[in-house]
Amino acid sequence: MTQINPTVDLDREGKQIGALHVPHSVTRSAYGVLPIPVGVIRNGPGPQVLLSAGNHGDEYEGQVVLTRLLQTLQPEQIRGGLIIIPALNLPAALAATRVSPLDDGNLNRVFPGDPDGGPTWKIADYVERHLLPRVDVVFDIHGGGASLDYRPHASTHFGRDASPEHKRRSLELVSLLGVPHVMVFENRINKGGLPDAAIRQGVISLGGEYGGMGSVSTSGVQMVQQAVDRLLAALGVRGALPDLPEPPQVLHILGPDAYVYAPEPGVFAPDTALGDEVHTGDLCGEVLFPEQPAREPVPIAFRGSGTVVCKRHPGRVAAGDCLAHLAASVHD
Ligand SMILES: [Zn+2]
Repeated sequence: MTQINPTVDLDREGKQIGALHVPHSVTRSAYGVLPIPVGVIRNGPGPQVLLSAGNHGDEYEGQVVLTRLLQTLQPEQIRGGLIIIPALNLPAALAATRVSPLDDGNLNRVFPGDPDGGPTWKIADYVERHLLPRVDVVFDIHGGGASLDYRPHASTHFGRDASPEHKRRSLELVSLLGVPHVMVFENRINKGGLPDAAIRQGVISLGGEYGGMGSVSTSGVQMVQQAVDRLLAALGVRGALPDLPEPPQVLHILGPDAYVYAPEPGVFAPDTALGDEVHTGDLCGEVLFPEQPAREPVPIAFRGSGTVVCKRHPGRVAAGDCLAHLAASVHD
């Protein structure tokens, strides 16, 4: 049973802004809680949607857009129900880190969570067993974080055994968000994410990466704003849905060979940029050793062909750091 107590009634009509109280008993505060901010906006029957950001604390475009939305949106402007959480892993968001400083939990790797685990595990359990069962669609907004820079994309995730209608609707919605590139994950590599919880709960799962480098991208904020507006319109929650000038390019992730890793510590000097088309054996970049200038740099080659959609941001690397990854058009 969850130990998290909401200060709002998740099912009440109207608009409420409160918190999900995660018990956190420490020396400084024996009966303290972590107040995860939550907004609930309801106006009669209709589509039910969970909008979340700050799953990773150092990804900001979604945090900005959902904070603004929560301040401005009124129940009479919508039909149905919205649960809005702009800083889902609050301790990580406050620390500006990917994982929680309280338990080292990476929220997007610990689902289904544990009601009696650390704060991050408690949050995951609450999302999976108390929030997702209330909604038809979840849009969990990401942004690369401090270590990565992304070419922005929207994404959807579904299980191999999802119904044809669930797959069709997932693809339709992700293609309507107005994001020029779309990733479809049907065979997920990373288990334990919020999308996996959505799949288990039969909820349409939308996401995406809209920035990176631990920064706030102006274009990323605009893209997320548009994606949220268009999603709510497409679902019939609010507003009209203008036609898109052209459909998005649909990409898929290529498996383990899509990822390039640093073989040893040094400084990574990239030889490619986001959006570049590359082939197996092409140079991704090289690791140099400024502390040993007589030593030859180590060249790093791509192990697959596709488009560079993600690259490492900090220059200093350790062995095993991801330097880049590729995706390919589904029509390739
Ligand atoms: Zn993320």
